[in-house]
Amino acid sequence: MQNNSKRGVFQRFVRLMTFLDLPIRRKFTFFAVGVLFWFVLLAGVAFYILLDVNIKTAQVVNSLLPDERFAQDTLRKANEIDRLVDDLLQAGTEQVVSLKSELLKTSLISISQAVEQLDAPEVQSPIRMVWDRLAENSWLDRQGNKTYLQLVKKSTATQLQLLNEMSYLKVDQVKNGQDNRSELEGKSGRFGALKEELVSASVEFLESISHQTKSYSTSIGTTTSYAFWIMMTVLFLACGLLAIFTFWISDSIVLPVSSMIEKIHTLATGHVDLTDKIEIRSDDEIGEMSREFNDLMDTVHGMTVFKNVIEEDATLEDVYSRMGEAFCANVGIENYRIYEVTSDGMGLMAAFPLLLPDKKLSCQTDILTSCELCRAIKTGHAISSLAYDRVCKQFLFDQNQVHICIPMIIGGHAGGVVQFVFDKEGEYALSRLEIEQRVAKAEAYIKQSLSVIEAKRLMNTLRESALRDPMTGLFNRRFLQDQGSHLVAGSLRRKKNIALLMCDLDFFKQVNDKYGHDVGDVVLKESSAIIAKSVRESDVVIRFGGEEFLVILTDVEVGDAFAVAEKIRTNIEEKTFVIGTEKFSKTISIGISEFPEDSDGFWQAIKFADVALYQAKEMGRNKSLRFVESMWTAEEF
Ligand code: GH3
Ligand code: MG
Ligand code: MG
Repeated sequence: MQNNSKRGVFQRFVRLMTFLDLPIRRKFTFFAVGVLFWFVLLAGVAFYILLDVNIKTAQVVNSLLPDERFAQDTLRKANEIDRLVDDLLQAGTEQVVSLKSELLKTSLISISQAVEQLDAPEVQSPIRMVWDRLAENSWLDRQGNKTYLQLVKKSTATQLQLLNEMSYLKVDQVKNGQDNRSELEGKSGRFGALKEELVSASVEFLESISHQTKSYSTSIGTTTSYAFWIMMTVLFLACGLLAIFTFWISDSIVLPVSSMIEKIHTLATGHVDLTDKIEIRSDDEIGEMSREFNDLMDTVHGMTVFKNVIEEDATLEDVYSRMGEAFCANVGIENYRIYEVTSDGMGLMAAFPLLLPDKKLSCQTDILTSCELCRAIKTGHAISSLAYDRVCKQFLFDQNQVHICIPMIIGGHAGGVVQFVFDKEGEYALSRLEIEQRVAKAEAYIKQSLSVIEAKRLMNTLRESALRDPMTGLFNRRFLQDQGSHLVAGSLRRKKNIALLMCDLDFFKQVNDKYGHDVGDVVLKESSAIIAKSVRESDVVIRFGGEEFLVILTDVEVGDAFAVAEKIRTNIEEKTFVIGTEKFSKTISIGISEFPEDSDGFWQAIKFADVALYQAKEMGRNKSLRFVESMWTAEEF
């Protein structure tokens, strides 16, 4: 547990240090700042070293070298002075005395002037102070150098004074014959001692200079070697860190991108496991891209699975209901309608959700009878009130709603339309962009479905044509053979009765005989329509024979069938057929049976209805007659 949390903290630290969750631009900015930092550090070290070497060299040139030259000069002059003093003491005339005395003075003054120059206080300035502070180091013996100069200064001053006194004494001796030899010797002895002191101080000083020069070169060597190692360490650290960061940053970009490229490549070749996702390693644009790519794969996967499923669905209704589920669950659109152009190509019908009450439509009900009124069907392209408010007059205007209608182009024609309705305001309101994104996704589902819808509709048409009588449009006997068992199973499951009405037009042959076959056909068609209109939509009307119809009433209560039969009979009776100037009417006889009330066998029940019809004909026609057991004599049939 503790280990886990430690690892978590470490991982978070690594993520932070590698800028994993930062946007790419900021990632590179930080990286550049890091590189710059190391550059500045290296430049700083190099600058410091250059400055240090420069200061030390300047000290050698400006201070040590002049001092050394001065000491050598002083040494040379001291020996010269020594000789001049001897000459002065030996001089026999006043003239020679004053000449030698002048020469000596000049030498001593030149030494003391040189000292003044070297010992002059430096001009202070802030830069100078920083410079001096930087220059404070152990290798230069400033104090020693100063002491030597002070000594020279003091010694020359005393020597000058002694020289003056010696000159007076000597002049006095030469000019006035004064015997002041012992006094002169005393002074010259002190002068000689001062000179010796100066010579030995100069020699010592020259030795010190030589030491200081050595220290200088050692110090420069030390600085250079430190500098080398510091720079090496900084360079090594910088290169190492740069290498690690470059690797991490490029890794965080390269790995997901190459994984994506690999996925796209395999997707293009068709061999890809769509459920194998790209690992989301960061929270930056790359992470976002990986997430979006995974979503895309999900969508593609969803689409592929969706297409496979609807292809295996049995009916068109199943396909529409799957589309509806996809709109709700995968796209997030709950308010939608799928309309289908009716088989006659005239109107529209709500294909999903099924059995939609008209008042719940978002459009005028006129579109149900005339599909051309629907703008999406008419134009064949998407109609969106987002792009243009109140674009379609059929949409029931609601200030708070927008609609986008996508036509389903099947076989080159708009075979239907999917309508999406969104709230503009309120809890579930979406932004325009979000609406467009969702509709685009829904459109992808619609596109996937189109080929399946087309195939299923074609199948339906083919089956319909095989199961329908082309002249009357009613189902034929084959329908009964195909679907009879389904009707029976459904009815038994619901524990309801099926009523069977066998209808036969009375004396129909006369129509053919009197008016010809064409008129007979017209009468047959019109009679078929009257029968179909007399029963519910859910009932089935079959052209059983030439002018014989079987009406199957589903889910009826016992006894209800007779009333329906009477309705059919009276509707036919009341119909006036107009042929040219002639008018006539026809009657119909109907035999009624019920399943499973009259028989456990469905086909047997049909036979019973036929028996009842026969009886109705026998009893004078234009009659509805309920089958009773007494009508059935097995021998007879
Ligand atoms: P009833 O049933 O009252 O006993 O007399 P009916 O004259 O109707 O009886 P029948 O069964 O003898 O005659 C049926 C006639 O219906 C025979 C046939 O010419 C005619 N018929 C059958 N199919 C068609 C059709 O498709 N078109 C036309 N014009 N006539 C048809
Ligand atoms: Mg007949
Ligand atoms: Mg007949």
